[in-house]
Amino acid sequence: MHVLVVDHPLVAHKLTVLRDETTDSPTFRRLTEELVTLLAYEATREVRVSPTTVRTPLMEADGVKLSAPRPLVVPILRAGLGMLEGMTRLIPTAEVGFVGMVRDEATLIATTYAERLPEDLHGRQCYVLDPMLATGGTLAAAVQFLIKRGADHITCICLLAAPEGIARITELLDGQHVPCTLVVAGVDRQLNDVGYIIPGLGDAGDRLYGVV
Ligand code: URA
Repeated sequence: MHVLVVDHPLVAHKLTVLRDETTDSPTFRRLTEELVTLLAYEATREVRVSPTTVRTPLMEADGVKLSAPRPLVVPILRAGLGMLEGMTRLIPTAEVGFVGMVRDEATLIATTYAERLPEDLHGRQCYVLDPMLATGGTLAAAVQFLIKRGADHITCICLLAAPEGIARITELLDGQHVPCTLVVAGVDRQLNDVGYIIPGLGDAGDRLYGVV
């Protein structure tokens, strides 16, 4: 898996405010959207386009348009939902599929509780949104799901990743011929003994939406 840590002062600044425990939920949500838009700019560098022409007020000009089938954006519920607006702001014509996953806090095993995705993903570029790549269980399950349906180009966009999670996805992809890129604002030191990224930013879902 290709890992791209986006090195930009605005990305670093927004991530710092997200980490701050005193940042309230409304600010956290707004900054997450802004940060995802910046990450999405890098993540879509290889989005497929086809040549087209337009008429300017002066003459015909060459240009490009997004190719068909349209890119598919897949937020992993619940926390990935907080990243959706920031992504679709950049690609408004993308289709959106959903995968709902929950992690058992004792075993750290992810299970799927909801799924709304096209049956056939052949020829689709898929952008998976999950703020925290921690143990990698959730993202690994989602990526596996997409590959089984035929996705041939996967980009995962995360706010933060732990080396353990990156290793898990890399292992999963070993021997599979599906190009996969991880675009992330930062890679932290490690996981703690309950599977949280440290120093991290806490529970992204709770910080976005409160403890429910
Ligand atoms: N999920 C989170 O929201 N935060 C972590 O640190 C790990 C998993």
